[in-house]
Amino acid sequence: MSRIDELPPLRDVIARFDLGAKKALGQNFLLDLNLTGRIARAAGDLTGVTVIEIGPGPGGLTRGLLNTNAAAVVAIERDPRCVTALADLIEAAEGRLRLVEGDALEADVEALAPAPRAIVANLPYNVATPLLIGWLRRIDQFRSLTLMFQREVADRLAAKPGGKTYGRLSVISQWRADVRPLFNLPARAFTPPPKIESTVVQLIPRQSPEPAEFAAMETVTAAAFGQRRKMLRASLKSIGDAESLIEQAGLIPTQRAEEIPVAGFAALARAYQASRS
Ligand code: SAM
Repeated sequence: MSRIDELPPLRDVIARFDLGAKKALGQNFLLDLNLTGRIARAAGDLTGVTVIEIGPGPGGLTRGLLNTNAAAVVAIERDPRCVTALADLIEAAEGRLRLVEGDALEADVEALAPAPRAIVANLPYNVATPLLIGWLRRIDQFRSLTLMFQREVADRLAAKPGGKTYGRLSVISQWRADVRPLFNLPARAFTPPPKIESTVVQLIPRQSPEPAEFAAMETVTAAAFGQRRKMLRASLKSIGDAESLIEQAGLIPTQRAEEIPVAGFAALARAYQASRS
């Protein structure tokens, strides 16, 4: 048995350090170590990889990650109470766990963790989407992202064209990564239970994404999905000569955003870039 497995149960850690969950910090803790072990293993082979964990909380997933072959875990936590509560785990990890106190939205994770690196986290739901967009911008820096989202966000990430769930997040995620929903967890798996189910999703960087600038992709998807019920010839007026952009991208003016696949948006982004240069 490792020193990590000898640590007290997470419920005891929560009681001892008075870690009552704070809603503003998106705190829904996982206390079942079988479950956190399963999430850590879902990340795949982590041999030699530095894992970045956002929001270790009382450390359940962190314990799971330390029980893999990962070279080290760098955990970023905003709540000082949790930072105090993790002291025993840091000691038991014998140099493989580094805890950084701060806001993950501000963190320079590449500077904190040497390559090869992967991110594994049960994300605070209130900042999950901005964190993901930030990582997608530079996804080639990561081997994989294995992340817990609210089910509704996970559905949007993986949605295919043709439905209401298909939107900006679907296009930008699938443009940069292969998006794989892995498994769902019921609300009761968390303490306190959130309102809805959660889903673990893995994102693996695409080796050769359709060429386009990230900012241009953001602009065209915002315009098209911002008025998703309108045809492209109307919704794209806000960003330039809509008819000309659509023609250059090889799209049809009467199509609506939700019908356009990722490659179509990348073509539109390139046409938009060209129109600005
Ligand atoms: N990993 C733990 C688990 O699975 O039980 C806790 C997950 S809980 C959903 C989210 C964690 O992220 C909390 O510990 C919370 O304090 C932390 N957190 C919230 N906002 C954060 C931020 N901006 N930067 C870093 N950590 C944050």
